[in-house]
Amino acid sequence: MSTSDPQQQQMIHEAMKSIAERRPGRTKLVYDKTRRTIVAVAEGTQAPRALNITADDADMFATLTLSTTWLRDHWDSLIRDGYAPLSLSSWDEGDALTHAALGVTPAASSAAACITLDPAFQVPPGTTVAIVLQSDSGGQPNAATFSSPSATPYRATAWRQDGDTRLALDVCFADVQPELATRRSGILETTVLKDKTVVLIGLGTGGGHAAIELAKCGVGNFILIDRDRLAVGNVVRHPGGISQVGRYKVNVIRDLILEKNPDANVSAHPVAVDYDNQGDIKELIARADVVVCGTDSRPSKLLVNQLCVEAGVIAVYGGAFRRAYGGQVLRVRPNQSACHQCFVAAMPDQASDVEVSTAADAEGIAYSDQPVAIEPGLSLDVLPIANMVAKLALLELLADRDSSLNILQRDFAAPWYLWLNRPEPGTEYASWPPLSESVDEMTIHRWYGIELPRDEECSVCGNFLAALAGNYGLNVDSLPDLPVSTGKDR
Ligand SMILES: [Zn+2]
Repeated sequence: MSTSDPQQQQMIHEAMKSIAERRPGRTKLVYDKTRRTIVAVAEGTQAPRALNITADDADMFATLTLSTTWLRDHWDSLIRDGYAPLSLSSWDEGDALTHAALGVTPAASSAAACITLDPAFQVPPGTTVAIVLQSDSGGQPNAATFSSPSATPYRATAWRQDGDTRLALDVCFADVQPELATRRSGILETTVLKDKTVVLIGLGTGGGHAAIELAKCGVGNFILIDRDRLAVGNVVRHPGGISQVGRYKVNVIRDLILEKNPDANVSAHPVAVDYDNQGDIKELIARADVVVCGTDSRPSKLLVNQLCVEAGVIAVYGGAFRRAYGGQVLRVRPNQSACHQCFVAAMPDQASDVEVSTAADAEGIAYSDQPVAIEPGLSLDVLPIANMVAKLALLELLADRDSSLNILQRDFAAPWYLWLNRPEPGTEYASWPPLSESVDEMTIHRWYGIELPRDEECSVCGNFLAALAGNYGLNVDSLPDLPVSTGKDR
């Protein structure tokens, strides 16, 4: 079915749409014996029997998606100048044209477009796509309807110049924030978390995945800290892909967050988490509602713990065991639940997890020269842990909001969560019964919430000095000034 007549194209399009939407249309499709093709005719025209076209056939036009936010922002200049230029990403040989202003990742090829209110507008040279907005006060709003800043509805039509032919395009407006959308919901599920700030420290597989999930939840502000660059060996696990190799992970994840929520504020800090930088990191943590820590070393986790407890900021720590046979998540509510230092003191074996978030770890552990069986699916085994981290962070962010998810605060009351992907030989979990046989014994692929008391003598969240003095029969108030610990010796 092909015709280069724009009016015929538009009529065929209308007829296809009404077929697809199962509503009566103003046009119908008939077979024109003389021209030996399908043509659209107005309803009521005497014609041979209408063709039986299925809904799938209606998807015959390339799709053009435009940013509502951009158009609102450019409305004044559009009215003043009569048109506004814009750039489109051209995907799949032009089958999908997407307003470049919608996201951060452009297609390999682009198309120059202009938008105007004048159907007779002469498009500038080099411009291949034209979008015409026409007032449509009486019409039924649909995906091609734009509501102007003064709330006047406009209907958009568009065409692309292809040689001597003008091809009609399907137009659709995309909103980011759901409350701004006139008809359909926006990109995000909700905006209740747009004023919340999450600091993510460690943007490997787990931290990166958690960051993107929180962006999908509508979290509005992200601060990302990680000094690593994306390496080729990371790509099979990390959300970043092969075309991003060499970039700092914070920048890769920033762009992926903005792909999910273009309105998010994201600041990226490619710095090491160590005592030399603790002043800067402390300042960033002070801005957080929740800190998510997915770093791969104990010293960095203990530094983050110390800074979060001092700042009174809730932190969620996630880590995978070696070769991701399992993992654990610890949520620290300062001075209410055990901190990471308490955890290390109480559970030294469990705390000494070996993680897989760096290329060096992965090569040394997952695919080492040691005789270990080949284990595909490392990413699959990290994701349950990353999901739990994101879920616990989400619940903390929602605690002061009206949300049906808050019923879960009861279920997620424990500070420490354990997950096993497999009963790894040589571990204390090797004797766990098979998943299929167990009724009430512990098995793989289930979360276990575990109570963990605070350590009253904890050097971070407890009264370490009083406990120490007590052990030696001293009165802490009578001691001379003690040197302040930098934590470097921990
Ligand atoms: Zn503690």
